[in-house]
Amino acid sequence: MGTIEDVNKVLDEDNVQVVAQVAPALRVTIGEEFGYKPGTVLTKQFIGSLKQAGFDKVFDTSTSADVVTVEEGTEFLKRLETGECLPLFTSCCPASVLFIERQFPQYVDHFCTVKSPQQTMGALIKTYYAEKMKLKQKDLFVVSVMPCVVKKLEAKRPEMEFNNIPHVDAVLTTKEIAELLKGRRIELEKVKEENFDNLLGDASGAGQLFGTTGGVAEALLRFVSNKLEQDLGRVEFKEVRGMEGFREANVKIAGKKFKVAIVDGLHHLKDLLSNEKKFKKYHAIELMVCPNGCIGGGGQPISTPEIRAARRKALFKIDSKENVRICMDNPEVKKLYNDYLGEPGSRKAVSFLHTSKVCLKCD
Ligand code: SF4
Repeated sequence: MGTIEDVNKVLDEDNVQVVAQVAPALRVTIGEEFGYKPGTVLTKQFIGSLKQAGFDKVFDTSTSADVVTVEEGTEFLKRLETGECLPLFTSCCPASVLFIERQFPQYVDHFCTVKSPQQTMGALIKTYYAEKMKLKQKDLFVVSVMPCVVKKLEAKRPEMEFNNIPHVDAVLTTKEIAELLKGRRIELEKVKEENFDNLLGDASGAGQLFGTTGGVAEALLRFVSNKLEQDLGRVEFKEVRGMEGFREANVKIAGKKFKVAIVDGLHHLKDLLSNEKKFKKYHAIELMVCPNGCIGGGGQPISTPEIRAARRKALFKIDSKENVRICMDNPEVKKLYNDYLGEPGSRKAVSFLHTSKVCLKCD
């Protein structure tokens, strides 16, 4: 959806505000397109290069990943109460959604109903940000910069729009945005470093871990632990970390046992879903199609297991150095709920951010 030419054209127009959102994995992969070593963190240089190319605002998809974790965690706790649709499948990988819709449609209800971080960010830009800035949805052009070619298909799904206005107007992969920047003679090492813009630009360490395998599961467990155990809540869940395409972890939170599986790669996914007795013993399953998650996405520079290991290590290092490491501690997420959405799972949050319109709080 959207091409480099489309985005170049809109960047040169004055009558529309062009907003980029940058997926978590790109901060540790874009450098490879410009000759840096795998795993070099170039967040600020990349934002600076997008600003130099003409993007008016640059937001962090890791921020919407934090919002996704709040909504997903709320839905997960509700399902644990009722026992319905367990295990919960994470919904941030559109390729896993497509695969299950086509190959295992009987399990579609297991997906968490919250939209992916890409679509959640698009929806928030066209509602929350537009209202705060007194802009009309049609005056905004949202470009997702993603590790993934399937995100282009996701952006065209009928549920990803409000009144015929899509949440996201164009999706460029890592390689495509590098081509756009090179076409404009922008060199990463020479640009002025910049920070993500306010309102949707602060992310917890957990939100940034969405870029690698196990990161979505760890973000969810951080939420559940800190919700159920408050001050005693844990931050790190090393049990879910690793590079193998199928992993399982047993975690104890507030005296309860949680069984979690982390799956990446279609063959692992197919094996697991073909064995109903096996997959139903889990409470939650993180689903990714690419090897080691989005750091190995189809729109990324070509990688080997060693390159992906360097990218993954860099994301965990970013997380370990963040002051805020849990989604609900993110000040921008708190402000979003206080000023706009109300509480997690509210009618407004569900209406804007979920694919099902059932309010998690009242229905
Ligand atoms: S795992 Fe691959 S297909 Fe899934 S969202 Fe990430 S890059 Fe896209």
